Amino acid sequence: MEQESSTTEEVLIEAPSEESVPTDNPDTHRFECRSCGFVYDPAEGVKKVGIEAGTPFSALDVVSFRCPVCRSPVAAFRDIGPRDKPSGFEENLKFGLGVNVLTPGQKNVLIFGGFALAFAFFLSLYSLR
Ligand SMILES: [Zn+2]
Repeated sequence: MEQESSTTEEVLIEAPSEESVPTDNPDTHRFECRSCGFVYDPAEGVKKVGIEAGTPFSALDVVSFRCPVCRSPVAAFRDIGPRDKPSGFEENLKFGLGVNVLTPGQKNVLIFGGFALAFAFFLSLYSLR
C-alpha cells in the first residue's frame, strides 16, 4: 500500500526548473518618467545627454541625471520592467523566435494604449470649450 502512494508523490514532485534569470535582469528594466512619460531604455541610453547605450538605470548618477524631456530627477522615474519587444538588437538574437511571435502584440498594446490615452486627453481639452 505504501509503495503505491510513493509513486504518486513522484509525479507531483516533478517540476521543470527552467532558469528565467536573463529575462528578469534589473539592469534591463526600463524606467518611465512620471511627469512626462519619457522612457529610459538601458539598451539605448540617452545620446542627447551623453549616456551610452547599455547603461542600466541603476548606474545613472542620481544627482546629475535629469529627465531629458522635463528635467525631473531620478526619483520621478518608476520601474516599468524589462523591455519585451523585439525591436532591440542583441536581445532579439538571444531570445530567439519564440519571443518574436509574442512581443509584437504586446508592443502594439503599449503603443496604442499610449496613443489612446494621449488622444483622450487631447479630446478632453477640446470638450472644455
Ligand atoms: Zn520627464
